[in-house]
Parts: sequence; C-alpha cells; structure tokens
Amino acid sequence: MKIWLDGGLQDLESARVSVLDHGLTVGDGIFETVKAVDGRPFALTRHLDRLTRSARGLGLPDPDLDEVRRACAAVLEAEPVPLGRLRITYTGGYGPLGSDRGDQGPTLVVAVGATKRRPDATAVITVPWTRNERGALAGLKTTSYAENVVALARASQQGASEALFANTVGQLCEGTGSNVFVVLDGEIHTPPVASGCLAGITRALTVDWTGAKETDLTLDVLERADEVFLTSTLRDVQAVRRVDGRELPGAPGPVTAKAMRIFDERAGNDLDP
Ligand code: PLP
Repeated sequence: MKIWLDGGLQDLESARVSVLDHGLTVGDGIFETVKAVDGRPFALTRHLDRLTRSARGLGLPDPDLDEVRRACAAVLEAEPVPLGRLRITYTGGYGPLGSDRGDQGPTLVVAVGATKRRPDATAVITVPWTRNERGALAGLKTTSYAENVVALARASQQGASEALFANTVGQLCEGTGSNVFVVLDGEIHTPPVASGCLAGITRALTVDWTGAKETDLTLDVLERADEVFLTSTLRDVQAVRRVDGRELPGAPGPVTAKAMRIFDERAGNDLDP
C-alpha cells in the first residue's frame, strides 16, 4: 500500500517517521478525514480550510495546501477504492525529548483506506464526561483523540456506534466523531459551534441544505426529541434509533429521511460544495 510522506509516495511497510515526532509523543498534531467517491475527494476545499484553521489554532505552520492536494490525488490514484476515507495527518514533527515543539519542520502523512456506506440507523449513548467549550482545543480537529477513544469503547460495550457529550454547562454538544441534530415539532435543531463542537463539514452542509436551526439545547433534549440524527464525513446523515435506553421506533423518521435524501442528492451533484 502506498502512502504520502516527506513529499512523495512511499510504501507503507517502509515509510518511517521519528519515534520522537511530537504528534506521537504529545499529540501535537491535527487531521482531516475526507470521503473519496470513485477516486475523487468530497468537499476537499472545506477540509483544507479547516486543516489550516486547526493548524493555526495549535500554532503549527500553515500546511502547504498544494502539496496536500497533490498527496490526496496521488494516493487515490495509487490505491483505487470505490468508497474511500482519506486520512490527512499533520504534526509538529520531530523534536528532541523535552522540547516544546518539533524543530525539523512538520510531518505530513496522507493515506487512504476503503470504507462502507453507513447503515441508515444506529444506536448512541450519552457519556458523563464533558467537552470543554472554553478549552484551547475547542473546535480544533487535533490528534489528541484519547477522550473520544474512551467514550467510543463505552459505546461499543453497550451496542452503540457513537457516544454523545454535553459541554461544561450541560448543553448538548457533539459525538466523538460526529455532530448531532434533533427534531422538535417538525423543526431541525443542532447545537451552535459555541457549544464547543467541531464545525463539522457535513453539519454545515446539512444546515445549509435543510434550513436546520443552530440552537442551545440541553442534554436532556435527547429524552424528548421526536427524531435524532448524526452527521459526519463517513456517516453522511445517519438516523439514531436508540439513545441510551430510549428507543426511537421507525428511525429514520420522516424529517430525518428527508434530510438524508436531500444530502445524498446534493452531495451526489457537487463534489466540492
Ligand atoms: N465532531 C468531531 C469531534 C469529529 O471528529 C468529527 C469528524 O470526524 C465531526 C464532529 C464531524 O465532522 P465532519 O462532518 O467534518 O466529518
């Protein structure tokens, strides 16, 4: 398998980054997951804008977006898959032990793997831990992902595919790798970015295409919402059929099913919306 590292394609088996890369030792890195359909990336411009925003948020140098585009095209050509997930990882790079920052320039890795279309509906849990909407990393897509790994493990133990967080003031925030929407009296609502959630690209497209409102919601809205759905690059729009012990029979409900149809249609017609 070919991946992109150090400015060109390399064999995965022999590609090497330093064991003292700060992405590994202190999580000083950012990433993007980009869907690729028939060898073409979806919404790449939006992903590259967010990559730059995340880099600036961490104080990393701006990524060379021409190189990232070339890298995506090269790995997609080398590893053709009908439905793929491109993973762009960009870290602070090598730094001697104890150094604050890598001092040899950043590391850029781009790889692609095959993925499957998501099931139409899934189960989620809520977790007792919080997203810090005022933290330094709020809204940045960093490789400091361990909290999500812990929450996802709990979800999977309970037969769910996603775990939802509230923020520090008890507002509904987001999932480990998705944004959350609820339907109340026929209207679609999602927490605002100020809640501490990631500015998801699928979220933004769904808000634009369905007229969903950005609303402060408390976590307990999940106990009374008529419908709940998730959005993310790999889920697109996905209905929720169970939240903790609460079943939502018939998911996807009518409003979610319409949002799914609109998303599939619009995304199918425009690869870089
Ligand atoms: N929230 C978090 C924490 C994420 O990691 C992701 C994506 O991985 C999302 C939301 C959804 O964002 P997007 O639609 O851009 O994939």
